This record gives sequence, structure tokens and C-alpha cells, in this order.
Amino acid sequence: MKQYPVEKNQVLEATIIDLSHEGMGIAKVDGYPLFVENALTDEVVELKVLKVGNKFGFGKVMKFIKESPDRQTVENENLLRTGIAPLSHLSYEKQLAFKQKQVENVLTRVAKMPEINVLPTLGMEQPFGYRNKAQIPIRKIEGKLTTGFYRKNSHQLVAIEDFYIQDPVIDQAILTIRNILERFNIKAYNEEANEGFMRHIIIRRGHYSHEMMVVLVTRKPKFFKGVEIANIIHEELPEVVSVVQNVNEEKTNVILGSAEKVLFGKDSIEDQLLGKTYRISSKSFYQVNTQQAEVLYQTAFELADLKATDVVIDAYAGIGTIGLSVADKVDHVYGMETIKEAVDDARENAKLNDIENATYLVGKAEKIMTQWAREGIAPNVIFVDPPRKGLEQSFIDAACEMNPEKIVYISCNPATMARDLIHFAELGYTTDTVQPVDLFPQTAHVETVTLLTK
Ligand code: SAH
Repeated sequence: MKQYPVEKNQVLEATIIDLSHEGMGIAKVDGYPLFVENALTDEVVELKVLKVGNKFGFGKVMKFIKESPDRQTVENENLLRTGIAPLSHLSYEKQLAFKQKQVENVLTRVAKMPEINVLPTLGMEQPFGYRNKAQIPIRKIEGKLTTGFYRKNSHQLVAIEDFYIQDPVIDQAILTIRNILERFNIKAYNEEANEGFMRHIIIRRGHYSHEMMVVLVTRKPKFFKGVEIANIIHEELPEVVSVVQNVNEEKTNVILGSAEKVLFGKDSIEDQLLGKTYRISSKSFYQVNTQQAEVLYQTAFELADLKATDVVIDAYAGIGTIGLSVADKVDHVYGMETIKEAVDDARENAKLNDIENATYLVGKAEKIMTQWAREGIAPNVIFVDPPRKGLEQSFIDAACEMNPEKIVYISCNPATMARDLIHFAELGYTTDTVQPVDLFPQTAHVETVTLLTK
């Protein structure tokens, strides 16, 4: 049997030397790393070893021997335990510095750009209550319908009423809806057995419009009294303009199924972003932090420095928020996105805002870019905003072949961005300004906007 420097259940004293990219404290025992929740750099703790793995283990703080001056009080430890707000024990100023350093680290180490200057993270004045969307599992605990969140790496529901980082109106709405469901004797989903009925409550609330959409995710299509329940939700929560039933019959971690039915009102909500109006359908992506999304886009547009004659590509467009924000300042906007409903929204959003110079297509970015490159579309500026896995090489090839003056890369994952920046550099596009923007305060997620020039 292999020997490790620590064993399970051992209690030892250790100094935290760094924070992992997930915000866990890292201690080392004879070079063997232990990841420790709720522990900050330079803290000295007495910890208990919870798990010993091949290359690293996990520990739990039993006692703080020396606390960090950067520590702040966490109102509810469940916010750490569930991973809802895994950095909420670190002062906000230091959270911003942590994110800047994350980006610096990947760019210097992964992308081998030692000279790179990463700007200080743009943060929020009030870094809580910002999420415009909640996806909350509902389970039966001690005979009662309970809403909350899973304990990290588990499927054990922890009851939570104040989610801290969500719009407080959404927190209240979850409780109201839960109580209505309780009154109607609706059965909660049971994950192990794949039995029961109500799986998740999803709520989206327009930051400016205050329009709310409620999606009830059920295990079976037949929803006895569904329409009546939806009407009562609207009566008790007048901001709700849409109640949708989504059916997910599978035994899976994926929240949404494909079939949907409107139980009350419209199939979408509207909200505003940088002065334009957007329709948002249940399946469309929409940035969860509206205020900071505006800061993020504004930064991207300043870096792009657009001219009236410019042709612009909005790749990974969602409902078109990036392209449509600049459409009236440029000659033409082309965008693409894989989710059909989102592209329908983008086209509708062009109309809603009297924009006639925007073309949105359904399809994979890598395929459509190659096609557009072949057709001779010649953008001056390309905005890319991919999901966590970043860009495909074929996308990067096609983008560079189009010979734009600038590429503005918006990324929610510094690691894949760093990888992609290497490929861009090989094709002559070098990294200029790198600006992290805090879209997810109290969590370890890092959003970055980067300007690439030829
Ligand atoms: N720019 C938008 C959306 C960004 S999220 C905004 O700021 O709101 C990334 C989007 O890329 C999602 O809408 C997702 O559906 C889409 N997407 C994921 N993979 C894709 C691919 N291969 N090609 C095109 N779009 C993709």
C-alpha cells in the first residue's frame, strides 16, 4: 500500500500557503497538498484530514490558531458548505485582488506571457444580491417541501432561505412558490428513486423591468392543477408574467428537460441592458449579473473603439446583447449561437430595438465562422464570448483568416482563454489589454475581457 504523509482522521496543525482557483485554502504536509474549506492564506489552523487521495487530500478546520486580517464574518456557513458563496469569508477587496492574480497566473504560467499587465478587477459597490436568476432544487425533508442547495460534491439538500448573492425578491418568491406547492400537496422529487414530481424551481427576474419568469421543472408531463397553481403564483407574486412547466423525466444532474409548456402568461420576459430592450426565453443564456454585465460590455466596447464603417461579428451571441448594443454605431453586425430559441430572441430583439443591420444565425461558431470566411465576410472587429471550454482551433483559424483589426475575447474561464491566446499569438494576434470584471462576487468565478490586436 502506498504511504502518504497524512492519514484519514489525523488532526494536525498547518499553515495555509495559498488559495486554489476554487477558493480553497492549500496547506502542504511534506509537499503533499491538502485542500481546506474556509481557510485563508497565512492562516494557521488545526485541521482534521477528511480524505486522502493519490495526489492530494482534503481537510477541515477544527480550530483557528491564527486568523487572517482579510477574513470577514460569514452570516451563514451553509453558503460556504454548498459552494453558493465560497469566497464570502474573504474581504471583497481581497476577492478582487485574488481574481486579478488568477488571471495573471494563467497568463504568465500557462500562456508564457511574463510581460503581461493584468488590470485590477472591476468590482461592485454592493457585491451581493446581484443574481437575476436562481435554480433551486426542491426536496422533501422531515415531511416538508424544502428549498435550498446541495452540499458541495453531494446530493444532500441543505435548507437555505437567504441565498445572499441572489436578488432578495427572488429569495422571497422561492418561499412563496414553495408554500403554494405545499398547499396543493405537490410531491417533491426523490432523486435516488427517480420518483416524485417537482424537481426544481427556476426564477429569472429582470433587473430593470422587474418582470419575473418562473419555470417549474417536473418529472412527468401530467401536472394536476398546474394551470391553477400558475395563476395563484401570479396572484401572490404580481411581477410574475410567465410560468412555464419544463418536463425532465431522466435520472440526471441536468436540470432542464426539452419539453416545455406555458402555464400562465408569456413564454419570455423582457429586460433592459445598456438602454436596449431584450426578450429572454427560458432556454436562452442571459448574464446573471446585469449591472456588471453592463460594465463588462462597456469595457469591451471601449477596447473595440468602433467606427461607423465597421463590420462586427458577435460570436456566441446568446440573445444578441453584445452585437445589438453596438449595431447603431457600426455598418453591420453578424452573430451566431447554437440554441435556436436564443437566436429567435436575438432576431426579435433586433426588431424590438429598430435594428435592421444585424444578422443572426443558428449554428456552431466554428462551422459558421469557417463558412463566413469562405464567403468573404470581412469584419473589422470580432467579439467572442464562448462557454467555459473556450474556442475550437478551427474557429481561431477562421477568425484570423478574416484578418480583423481587433478581436475582443470575453471569457468566463481564464485557463481556456490562456490556451486560446497562445493559438491567436501563433497566427499574429497578440494580447493587449487584459481586464478582469467581477461578475460573480463571493464566488471564485473569474470573468475577463481581453483585447487582441494584429
Ligand atoms: N454573448 C452572450 C452569450 C454568452 S454565453 C451574452 O453575453 O449574453 C455563451 C453562449 O454560447 C451561450 O448562449 C451558448 O448557448 C452558446 N454556445 C455554446 N457553444 C457554442 C458553439 N459551439 N457555437 C456557438 N454558440 C455556442
